[in-house]
Order: sequence, then C-alpha cells, then structure tokens
Amino acid sequence: MFETIIGLEVHAQLNTKTKLWCSCATSFGEKPNTNICPTCIGLPGGLPTINIEAVHKAIKLSSAIGAKVNQKSMFNRKNYFYPDLPTGYQISQFEVPVVSDGFLDIEVDGHKKTIRIQRAHLENDAGKNIHDGNHSKVDLNRAGTPLLEIVTHPDMRSSDEAIAYLKKLHQIVRYIDISDANMQEGSFRCDVNISIRPKGETKLYTRCEIKNMNSFKFIEKAINYEVDRQIQAWEDGLYDKEVVQETRLFDINSSKTVSMRGKEDAADYRYFPDPDLLPLIISDEMIKQHKDIPELPQAKKERFEKSFGLKKDEIELLTVTKDMANYFEQMLSFGASAKIASSWLCVELLGRFKDGQNISSSPISAKKLAQLVCSIEDDKISGKAGKQVLDFLMTSDMEVEDAISKLGLAQISDDGAIVELINNIIKEHEDKVTAYKNGKDKLFGFFVGEVMKASKGKANPKTVNKLLKIALQG
Ligand code: ZN
Ligand code: MN
Repeated sequence: MFETIIGLEVHAQLNTKTKLWCSCATSFGEKPNTNICPTCIGLPGGLPTINIEAVHKAIKLSSAIGAKVNQKSMFNRKNYFYPDLPTGYQISQFEVPVVSDGFLDIEVDGHKKTIRIQRAHLENDAGKNIHDGNHSKVDLNRAGTPLLEIVTHPDMRSSDEAIAYLKKLHQIVRYIDISDANMQEGSFRCDVNISIRPKGETKLYTRCEIKNMNSFKFIEKAINYEVDRQIQAWEDGLYDKEVVQETRLFDINSSKTVSMRGKEDAADYRYFPDPDLLPLIISDEMIKQHKDIPELPQAKKERFEKSFGLKKDEIELLTVTKDMANYFEQMLSFGASAKIASSWLCVELLGRFKDGQNISSSPISAKKLAQLVCSIEDDKISGKAGKQVLDFLMTSDMEVEDAISKLGLAQISDDGAIVELINNIIKEHEDKVTAYKNGKDKLFGFFVGEVMKASKGKANPKTVNKLLKIALQG
C-alpha cells in the first residue's frame, strides 16, 4: 500500500593521475599530507587550473549513458566548513553541469526499466578526517581529487532496482576506464534519497538522504531499514514528526540509519561562480573524440550469447569486468574453443584464486590457459591431468608443455605402446577373454580398466577402446 521512491547520487572518483585543480598526484595510500600544494590546501595565492583529463572522462561517461554534453558550463563555489576542507568551499557545478539527461536500462527479475540520469557534474573531493583515540587528524592527500557526481531522477521503486542501477553504473565506469571504482577505497560512493507515499499518489513526500555508503550490501540494508522506518512512522501517526528532511548515516553495527544533521537546501551553500575559473568550454572536436567508446557490458553480453551460445550466468561472469572478457577472448584467439575455455576460466581458474587475487593479477596468462585447454582438446592429456597441471602452474612460471612432462602426465596416444599394454592384459586374463568371446559383453569395461591401470591412467581412453575392440575380435 506504500510505494518507495529512490533517487541516487554517486560520487565516482576519476582515475586521473593528478588532482582537479593542481598537479598533485592522486595516488592512494601515500604518507598523509605528502600529495599537497598551496592550491589544494587553500593557502593564499593558490590558483586553480582545470585538469582537462577529468573533462575528457566526463565526456566519455556522457557517451556511455546517452547523455548530452553541455559545451559551456560553470564552476561554482559551494561554501561550507569542515575540518578536511581547508578552502572553506568545494568547487562544484550548479546550474549547468558538464553532462545532463542520460539514462541506464536495468533489469530486475526479468523486468526491464529505464532509469533517467539527471546530471553528472565535476567537483573536487575533500580531505579525510581520521579519528584516532582522543585525537582527530586531517589528511589532505585526497583534497582536490576529481569526482564526477552522477545524479538520477527519483525513478527507482525498490532496493533491488537501486542496487541493479548501481551495479550497472559501477561496471560501466570501469569498462570505459574513467574510475577504478574501488569501493573499499571510497572511489565509488553513494548517497541515497528515500521517501515513501501511499500507492496511487503522485506527490513526493519528505525525503531523507543516507550519505556516503560504499558497499552494495550495506546500501541495500540501509534502504530497507529506512523504508520500514518511514512506513512505521506513517502507520503510527508520527510521520510529520519523525520523517524530516535530513541527512542520515547508516550504522553498520546496528544496521540502522541514524540522524546526522538537518539537510541543507542549495541556498544554504551560497553557490556563486568561482572568480578564479573561466567557464568550461568544450569543443565539438573534444566531443567527437569520445563518440566511439569501448564495447559496453550489455553489447558484449549480446555478442557473446550470439557468437558462442554460452549460458546466461556464464556470460554474466565472463563480462563482469573488461579484463575478464578480454582474457576470455584472448584464450579463443590462441585456439581454445568457447565452451571449454569458459569453463576452465570460470570454474577452474577462478576457483583456484585466493582472496585478493583477480583476473588482472592471474599467475597464468590467457595464452597459457588456452594452451592447457588445447592440450586437453587434442587428447594430449586428460581433463583430470589438466587440473593437476593447472594446480602446478598456479605457483610456477613453467611453460605448459614442460609442466606436463615434468609431472609425467602426457597421455599415451601412440598405438604401438597401447597395443603392447593390451596384449599383456589379454595374456594375463585368458579365461576372461574366452568368457567375453562367448558373449559376456560386460567384461569389455573390465579390460578398459585394466589397460588404463597398467598405463597409470595415461593411455588415451578413446584409443584404448578402439584398439581393444580390434584385439578382442582376433
Ligand atoms: Zn595540490
Ligand atoms: Mn557532491
């Protein structure tokens, strides 16, 4: 009987080498307060100059979400005090953002839906407050790092839709390489605006904003908690008292949202054009440069489905990142066939990764895994032996062929050697040979087993079958 209304604001940290307004490095995890200069810590005389790389990345996003690039936009000061904001203002965009009017299509339980993206604007990040016992410290390495704030219309109606949108956006910013979107490091953080209303009404009620979340799991929990809280307040007749426009935080320990501060309106920030910066002018040329973006996840999925006939969940896994998809396609270019390449990549290789390992840090290259897969397809080794070779290669940089011979796993496919094994078995079991010839067909399996055993599992089973049939006919 209630409907949930959700709008999302994502702050994606752009992966430029230097900050937005100065040439300090953006590298993560450096000694505190080493990547700083007068501009990014707000000393007198510091003057901002735009990092054009950040603008290029914003244009790339606009191509990926079917949005419009505004060829003239302004930078505004958004004034507020916070200890990690030494300038006393953030330089952001207000009336005209660099990108507007895009969309992303999502799918939840087979149900497709378009989420409209209102705008994406450039702004700089603040530093970081570190609370350490009785002390509070400020690290300004992050101050001035470029962010792209991507804002949707309030189009989502459930936490499932919100998460589907966020996962898709997360995947896209990585595919087009504008952000590493590392959530633990805070390079992809989300503010959620939530309100409820009785089903059938069109008016929007008071919204609460839950700030700064960087885990899909917590975002989902926070939304579900907040929706329940608002519905409960409505049903208790306390809606006007308990649901007010405010900023809330999600407390991981209690899985609840808690009030942080009253929500400011835009007017409170006294936005005004930054007098140190000219309007941002984007040429046709710059826009044209980013017309052709890399193949996006959706297009890749459709192509994989059409060309390789793989299953849906396999395709999801193969396209989860661009690196994963590239690895798979490289395996194919080295001669592996799609179905077996997919299963050796998704099941065998990923299954052997330890925590923190991923496809980009894989100890085995796509070429090597393809060679291994081809050895199995060509009957040089059995599938079982292939797994042993893979185990071995996880910690060795030996070539595939060398590993096979070092482990003594090469399959015996040579007819002569197999015939010899067969003849020995026949000699040892003359009684059974007679029984077989008298019609006890079931014994065929016994002979196959004996030959395989004698070869220590290395004989090619197909060849054994073929040659045994001939030998037993004689
Ligand atoms: Zn700086
Ligand atoms: Mn922002």
